[in-house]
Amino acid sequence: MPDFQSLLRELPAVDRLLREPLLEELQQRLPRRIVLQAAQDTIALYRKKITAFSEEGDRRQIIDLSPALLAQEAAAVAEKSAALNLKPLINATGVIIHTNLGRAPLARSAADALVAVARNYSNLELSLDSGRRGSRQEHIEDLLCELSGSEAAVVVNNNAAAVFLALNTVAFGREVIVSRGQLVEIGGSFRIPEIMTASGARLVEIGTTNKTYLRDYEAVVTENSAAFLKVHTSNYQMVGFTAEVSTPDLAGLAHKNNLLLIEDLGSGVFLDLEKYNLPPEPRVQDSIAAGADLVTFSGDKMLGGPQAGIIVGRKDLISYIRSNQLARTLRIDKFTLAALESTLRLFLDEETAIREIPVWRMLTASSESLHSRAKNLATRFAEIFGAEKVDVIPGISRVGGGALPMAELSTYLVAVRLTAEDGSPELFVEKLRHGNPPVILRLQQDSLLFDPRTIFEDQEDVLIERVLFCAKDS
Ligand SMILES: *Cc1c(COP(=O)(O)O)cnc(C)c1O
Repeated sequence: MPDFQSLLRELPAVDRLLREPLLEELQQRLPRRIVLQAAQDTIALYRKKITAFSEEGDRRQIIDLSPALLAQEAAAVAEKSAALNLKPLINATGVIIHTNLGRAPLARSAADALVAVARNYSNLELSLDSGRRGSRQEHIEDLLCELSGSEAAVVVNNNAAAVFLALNTVAFGREVIVSRGQLVEIGGSFRIPEIMTASGARLVEIGTTNKTYLRDYEAVVTENSAAFLKVHTSNYQMVGFTAEVSTPDLAGLAHKNNLLLIEDLGSGVFLDLEKYNLPPEPRVQDSIAAGADLVTFSGDKMLGGPQAGIIVGRKDLISYIRSNQLARTLRIDKFTLAALESTLRLFLDEETAIREIPVWRMLTASSESLHSRAKNLATRFAEIFGAEKVDVIPGISRVGGGALPMAELSTYLVAVRLTAEDGSPELFVEKLRHGNPPVILRLQQDSLLFDPRTIFEDQEDVLIERVLFCAKDS
């Protein structure tokens, strides 16, 4: 048996390791410093292993110290450290708008538009008609007006910014009246009371948590009131004994008192959800038709586009908002604008929107198609784990992302029941998360659950490959 000192002497030097063909090839592709660091780290790791063996007095351990093997390990370390931190992954959770997973994946045409504008110069602020300076907002204003029926529109960085900017512009130093039932927190960092304070508007709370009537609004209107704010409680739902004032009634009272009605819809919906057997969500065009003066919503929730905050409404108000100095700090970038324009265009034809926008395709996926995709995946998983461990079971997908909080979309899940020989299910989930691409999924007791609703069809082969790799590894 080799002793401790001779094992250490057997360890290849860094230079020797770097001359291994595998690492020489890698240095052509990756930054040299990353390969060098990986080689040093690998040798250091083996030195530790040898020391540990010697301390345990376990001399029977035979360690393979061949340069070829160490080079393989160093190559894996180098590949890993050269990979981007932010990367695409497979969402098998069944949560469609998953905030931690980047909310809405873009339609192909939207992603293509983004790349084209990113790689080239563009007419971002040039009017091609006049040859003079133009506004970046002009590229999408007409589209937004057409879809929402509003007079004007402006787009900023996200919906939190849209609410903030609207309030700062029309209600700075003045009172804004909000129902207690709508003082919501969204995503842990956006709270209506805090955003109002930051905008310079003074919050006047009315009603109770579960019930607010028109007379509650009427009772607190003063000379210093600027607006009513109606907030869509998009991430929770009150059930039971509740009352809320409708947008038309609120608009009527606001206008009678010379106040504005601002409505924060949260999720931007243009299509009629009930047509697809989904619970109703207020549509942007309905709020405008009902008389709301300003309506705000996100670009990357139900709209299915890029992160953005959209404000539609009265022309004079939108023009004040645009000339607010703060608008510049919340300005939308050209990549987002390109993707947003492209996404909005898809909504001009409902069938196209449903087919091309991933969020809408997933929302409206038929039970039969989910069942047949689940069965196909199950057949392929059965080849890996054995048919007795794999089932197709009915389950629930969620909309997520602060939209349709109570909606349960029925789906079919592929359940893989792991047994002791497969290793712990938690470890399996962790290995899938650490792979390339990472796979994120649900775990229920000892079963891995895969929801085909949020797995793209062109990801299925890679998914099977990743699962196979992790199964072999255990
Ligand atoms: C999600 C949401 C927001 C915040 O929108 P972001 O685009 O995430 O900034 C604000 N208000 C409501 C009602 C929401 O649902």
